[in-house]
Amino acid sequence: MLKSGKEYLDSLKDGRVIYIGDETVLDPTTHPAFDRIANTYAALYDQKKAPENIDLMSYEEKGERFSTYFLKPRTQADLEKRTRAHRFITEWSYGLLGRSPDATASNVTGMAMKPTVLEDNDGGFPEHLSVLWEHLRTDDIFLTYAIVPPPAARNPQYYQSKGIESPTLRVTKEDDAGVTINGMKFLATGAAVANEVIVGNILPLAPDQAAESITCIIPFNLPGMSLWARKPIAEDVKYEFEAPLSFRYDESDCMLVFEDVHIPWENVIVHNNAPLSRDVFIKSASHVLSNHQSNCRFHSKMRLVLGMASMITKATGAHDVPAVRETLGRLAAMEAGFGALIDAQIYAHEQLTEEFVLYSRRYMYAGLAWAAEHHSALLDTVRELMGGGVFQFPASINLVRDPTLKTMFDKYWSTVDDASVDRMKLFSLAWDLVGSAHASRLQSYEKFFVGPVFSIRNYSYINAPWDEFDAIVEDLMQQYDVPDFTN
Ligand SMILES: Cc1cc2nc3c(=O)[nH]c(=O)nc-3n(C[C@H](O)[C@H](O)[C@H](O)COP(=O)(O)OP(=O)(O)OC[C@H]3O[C@@H](n4cnc5c(N)ncnc54)[C@H](O)[C@@H]3O)c2cc1C
Repeated sequence: MLKSGKEYLDSLKDGRVIYIGDETVLDPTTHPAFDRIANTYAALYDQKKAPENIDLMSYEEKGERFSTYFLKPRTQADLEKRTRAHRFITEWSYGLLGRSPDATASNVTGMAMKPTVLEDNDGGFPEHLSVLWEHLRTDDIFLTYAIVPPPAARNPQYYQSKGIESPTLRVTKEDDAGVTINGMKFLATGAAVANEVIVGNILPLAPDQAAESITCIIPFNLPGMSLWARKPIAEDVKYEFEAPLSFRYDESDCMLVFEDVHIPWENVIVHNNAPLSRDVFIKSASHVLSNHQSNCRFHSKMRLVLGMASMITKATGAHDVPAVRETLGRLAAMEAGFGALIDAQIYAHEQLTEEFVLYSRRYMYAGLAWAAEHHSALLDTVRELMGGGVFQFPASINLVRDPTLKTMFDKYWSTVDDASVDRMKLFSLAWDLVGSAHASRLQSYEKFFVGPVFSIRNYSYINAPWDEFDAIVEDLMQQYDVPDFTN
């Protein structure tokens, strides 16, 4: 069943506990820190269901419709449909929602496309995965993930040497009904406004960390579970005009804390198998399917960045200066190249199993690495093109309430081509993209959401056909020999 925006908002009133400092939030839909982003997602649920979008954004199976991002691709056409659906969402949200509902749904769909990863190993529960995936798509669940141990808690020996228990999440008890978990998980983007979370491990665990390998899909309202939010950004924005991106897209990041939380077996995907907890992401289609979405999102963001670079330079009058045109041309080439890299993932797809196909792994990881390395430089280019223009504007648009100030504002801040208010609107948006607290949080997000850049490069390393590359050099070297010095 495809949820409406209202049904989505109602589903968030589930009794979850969120802490903002010493404040307890029980309903994110009515709290100023989270109500705006909740409404953004609600609008997305309505868009997805709208008659003009329903064919693209959902598919039919056995008489029921499910969101396209739960589609297990069997053909290139299925991959294209998934990509178009991701692009619909990322264009609609300008590439600014890291954890839109299509992101983590793709993780679980990718796992369900290759359950043999779980079947072939002790501690894997493929039958639970299949039921959980069915539940996610049937109930149109917005899922997020927390799949990293907290910083500074990744070395158990260090804690043991100090006689302290590491705060990282682990199973502490097991019974017929399930497992009990204690500890903390880093860092669930979107948690305040998502329905459920997949808890697991994307970083490798040592063999003796089996208790930490717990991988499960759970709601946020389990007794003993709490969400610890970072400082919210949206609630400080008084007028959308002044910081529209902070206003709409502050998606929240929460640490998840578990104190004697009981997880029923049917929610568990991996238990007591350290390598498997990572393999279920990496060796299935999970990581590739979900990060193809990340690539689409980044491309939409690049398109916003290019539009901003163009509009800002028009506003400053620098647009047609040859050096500025060259900068814009360089940005345009990057954007086109990145777009082609996404299309290439479809055309160079791989046959994952007899039944299913998957985007090209290598091209997807190339996109991830490029994005993580270039995001800051792209935004810095826009900042440079802006000059100091943003700082010329008054502290708040509320000055227009005062007729005298408004007259002065119009007189001094308007240009021949643009009214003062329109110029302030453009520069405020640009600042929210490159300089505000929201922009700064996104800068860290783009650097780290898949893990640090060295780990992203490692994915490219392990998937490269090194034998093929080596053979090219060997073949070339076989074509000539040591010179004959005998005569
Ligand atoms: C805004 C934001 C949102 C996030 N959302 C999510 C989410 O939704 N779900 C989730 O599970 N996680 C999320 N994360 C967490 C993310 O997975 C981690 O930030 C990432 O794995 C890096 O870990 P870390 O932050 O502890 O950095 P560290 O691993 O401590 O790295 C810090 C620095 O040290 C360097 N470094 C560390 N170890 C090495 C090494 N061995 N070799 C070379 N250099 C090294 C790194 O390159 C990096 O520059 C989010 C992070 C951010 C910033």
